[in-house]
Parts: sequence; C-alpha cells; structure tokens
Amino acid sequence: MKRQIVVASNNAHKLREMSEIFTEYEVLSQKQAGFCEDVEETGTTFAENALIKARAVCTALGRITLADDSGLCVDALDGKPGVYSARYAGEHGNDKENRALLLKNMQGVTDRGAHFTCALALVTPDGQEIVVEGKTFGTILHEEQGTGGFGYDPLFFSEDLQTSFALATPQEKNAVSHRFRALQALREKCKALLD
Ligand code: IMP
Repeated sequence: MKRQIVVASNNAHKLREMSEIFTEYEVLSQKQAGFCEDVEETGTTFAENALIKARAVCTALGRITLADDSGLCVDALDGKPGVYSARYAGEHGNDKENRALLLKNMQGVTDRGAHFTCALALVTPDGQEIVVEGKTFGTILHEEQGTGGFGYDPLFFSEDLQTSFALATPQEKNAVSHRFRALQALREKCKALLD
C-alpha cells in the first residue's frame, strides 16, 4: 500500500500533476484529508505562500503536509502576474480571462521571455520546514496554441519542448515543468524525512 501525503490544495489540475510526478505516494487533497477551509495567500513570494498553506493544513490535521504555490513571471511585465497568477484578471481561477489579459498586456511587446516558478513547502507536525523552488523557461506566444494543460499553458512556448505546454502531452510537460523540478529538488533535500 502506498504511503499518503496531504497536498494543501484543492486544485484538481495541480493534484493530478503531483500524483503523476510523486508516484510513490497516494496524494490526498486537503479536502480529502478533512480540511475544508480556504487559506488566504497573503505572502509576497511563492515560497511565503506555500509555507502559509502548508503550515495551516499541517497544524489543523497533524500530518506531514506539502503545499505548492506557483505562477507565471513575465520579464517585460516586471515578473507579473507572479503571485497573482491565479487572480490576474480579478476572479480567482478564471484561466480564460487571465490569458486574455496577459495577451492584451503583451500587445506590441517584443521581449516575450517568461518562466513558471513553483515553490513547494513541506511541513511536519514536529515543526520541520523545507522549502524548494523549480523553474521552467520559455516565451509568451502571440495567440493560444493547444487546449491541453491548464492556466497559462496555451500561451507558454517551452524552451525545453519547443512547443506550447498546451500542445505537449502530460508526460512531456511533467518531464520539464516547474512543478516536476521543484519535486525533484524536494526529493533530494528531504529523502530522510519522506522515507
Ligand atoms: P496558485 O498556486 O493556486 O496560487 O495558482 C497558480 C496559478 O498560476 C494557476 O491558477 C495558473 O494560472 C498559474 N499556473 C501555475 N502552474 C501552472 C502551469 O503548470 N501551467 C499553467 N499555469 C500555471
């Protein structure tokens, strides 16, 4: 039987990617583990937000908890939408409107460099805290390409894959994604804690 790990998120896309990457664990959402509140992301960095979520759920459930905070940072927009990626256009999680606003703000911009960042925080009931980050680089397309993935994937041309994240298969995206790289870093950093 696989060991369980609580992931402080109810975002189905992220949980699916976490399970695909963290195959040795059964990934439980915070709701499945019995935590039904929304934790406010009041931090100014991905790492701070990941820690805020992991601490809140770990304290409430008394179980090792992993939290992810991620987003898109666009060079020409001084790193925006950044920690506001999920609510860039106003409404939390409205991916379509977020992409439309990004395209609008990138009109006429020639420097299209961007990266996704994922911060992961692992917090244990006895107070150990580990935070790591993963990044993946690319450029912002002039129009959407593909319908796979989620969030800004149709607008992100991956430097590694030489295609949009929304045209890549889940396996291709998972091999180079910010989330995969953060999980790799986490695996390295806390082997003893997770084994
Ligand atoms: P949060 O980490 O739940 O605050 O939200 C992260 C937001 O960043 C998502 O709603 C997406 O808009 C964006 N994002 C994070 N990771 C990805 C990804 O792998 N592909 C596309 N968009 C992403």
